Amino acid sequence: MTIRLAAPPILNSIVDGEGVRAVVWTQGCLLRCPGCHNPHTHALDGGFETDTERVKFDLRRAKGVRGLTLSGGEPFLQVAACADIARFVRALGWDVWCYTGLLHEQLRADPQSRPLLELIDVLVDGPFILAERDPLLPFRGSRNQRVIRLRETPPVAP
Ligand code: SF4
Repeated sequence: MTIRLAAPPILNSIVDGEGVRAVVWTQGCLLRCPGCHNPHTHALDGGFETDTERVKFDLRRAKGVRGLTLSGGEPFLQVAACADIARFVRALGWDVWCYTGLLHEQLRADPQSRPLLELIDVLVDGPFILAERDPLLPFRGSRNQRVIRLRETPPVAP
């Protein structure tokens, strides 16, 4: 399945969620929040196209990693491909964090978001709002954004 990414996956981040995590940056975001830290991820035809099997191959090489973070760009613009990757890492026993500029309530009300939403452990939601910016906040850029734990327990390794 094809997916458009802003950059190759990172396999050892400690700033995109709890613990040592792999990060997949999707390409494309329609919100264009003023002050966004990743403006190069906005263009829908930017970045590069690859295959989710290639992403899984890269993630399998990660050492000591127990979690995946989907970021962007807007992961919910590529629900099927992100869900394919999230399902794969959950089968490895990893947890899944996802950053979105949309609100949890919006995603819950949209059946097209469900295939990805149901695979996420922690959702960091909402647009970046410059007037609400706070560099001391853990895992988010502005005070309006929420770290929402959608599951009480992490996935169980097979
Ligand atoms: S939702 Fe995220 S990626 Fe999109 S413009 Fe806002 S801060 Fe940037």
